[in-house]
Amino acid sequence: MAKRKTLRFDYLTIFPEVIHPYVQASMLGRAARKRLLSFHAHNLRRWTHDRHKTVDDKPFGGGPGMLMKPQPFLEALAWLKLRNIKTGRRRTGAARARVIATAANGKPFTHADAARLATRYTRIVFLCGRYEGMDQRILDRLADEVFSIGPYVLTGGELPALVMTDAIARHVPGVLGKEASLAEESWSDGEGEYPQYTRPETWLGIKVPKILLSGHHKDIEAWKKAHRMH
Ligand code: SAM
Repeated sequence: MAKRKTLRFDYLTIFPEVIHPYVQASMLGRAARKRLLSFHAHNLRRWTHDRHKTVDDKPFGGGPGMLMKPQPFLEALAWLKLRNIKTGRRRTGAARARVIATAANGKPFTHADAARLATRYTRIVFLCGRYEGMDQRILDRLADEVFSIGPYVLTGGELPALVMTDAIARHVPGVLGKEASLAEESWSDGEGEYPQYTRPETWLGIKVPKILLSGHHKDIEAWKKAHRMH
């Protein structure tokens, strides 16, 4: 079997220190040590040119708060060799990289998106917003896709990027201990997951459904099918 290329994740953020503690732990950390995944958090302030390393500015037309400026994101993506520094357009050779912007009002991120991104691309770059969000031209010109992780507003795009990273990484062969565990999960086939129980058989007076203790595989499968839920 051909060796799979490492799936590389990059994060453009003003808080790079929040990324590594999560991705170094547990299954993602183990997958990184096996070189199935790699994680690179970049401080966006590196691509500023003023004394204060400014990444934000006031919105035209007024309004509360500040917006992320487009130029530091462009320069970072050009440094990563993914965007042309003059036009912001995709560079040749970057076809298997996907630039994903995070936005509270973006497209809802789904299980199907996670599977597609893990399968089609070898490199995923997250643009993490802060303040009141990003200049619209970042979303329109630099991002390939703009995702929201849910109908609520967080203080920044780092948690959304980590949530998406985790969901995408689980689709990379070898990241989960047992590939079968992916196939039967809540959103994998649209049918939902059934309730599951472990020992003890009775806990706080609540009994495990008898059928699951019966050893009758056919009946157990029928029960699981009947009890699938989202
Ligand atoms: N003013 C924006 C609005 O009303 O939608 C909220 C900006 S939020 C305080 C700052 C950043 O956090 C956003 O630019 C985005 O990167 C990230 N963010 C917040 N909530 C998010 C969500 N539900 N999904 C994805 N990204 C989110």
